[in-house]
Amino acid sequence: MPEGPHEAPPPQLLRTEEAWSDAELKATLEAYKRLLNGERLSKAGLYRELSQRFSRAPGAYERRMQNISAVLSERGQPWVPGLKPQKNVGANVRPRLERLMQEILVGDSDTGTAYEPEVLALLNQPHLPVPSGQQRPATSTKLVTDHARDAAVKAWVLKNAQGMCECCGKSAPFRTVNDLPYLEVHHVRTLASGGADTVDNTVAICPNCHRELHHGTGALELRARLYARVDRLRVEPSDRLKTS
Ligand SMILES: [Zn+2]
Ligand SMILES: [Zn+2]
Repeated sequence: MPEGPHEAPPPQLLRTEEAWSDAELKATLEAYKRLLNGERLSKAGLYRELSQRFSRAPGAYERRMQNISAVLSERGQPWVPGLKPQKNVGANVRPRLERLMQEILVGDSDTGTAYEPEVLALLNQPHLPVPSGQQRPATSTKLVTDHARDAAVKAWVLKNAQGMCECCGKSAPFRTVNDLPYLEVHHVRTLASGGADTVDNTVAICPNCHRELHHGTGALELRARLYARVDRLRVEPSDRLKTS
């Protein structure tokens, strides 16, 4: 069968097993981003373009885009309808894919996601009972179960704050990619000094107040003001002297 000069390479020349280069992953992400932004493009056309550029079968790009949907869906972020999440991301590709996703889809490279998937899932629930948290969070067993408890406390405190910093009272400085007000969760008495991981030792505050509470010369006064301002906080006996 004769072939024109602009046809896709014949199947026997298509790479299937060869590793994906950063350039190829980036090009796939750029195409995905256009779909995510709502550009009206033919998906098949995008796969064909990528196939011609990198000599891999068009179907490979569809599967790769479904991998991208899977990572986005795990993070509670929107993904392209019609590219159903497909989780079989190769272990050798996944870290690079996630790094490039952050760079290309989110546009920042060193701060990770604002809220963990467990927290996001809880924030989406209409009713959040007050979690019991942990009075004495173990420092030696920081594994999955710990993390899940932490998520319940974090989600409850974030939701309860209703987008306002509990320290200065101002609105969250911006909304996250998940369209949630951005606040940080702070343990008033640090876990390291025996503070509990419970809602009566935890506040949702803006990044400025958070930095000041950790690094400011007036940190102790600010902490005393937090105790006075937020009724649910329980002053632990050893803190009473410092905050009065
Ligand atoms: Zn604040
Ligand atoms: Zn903190």
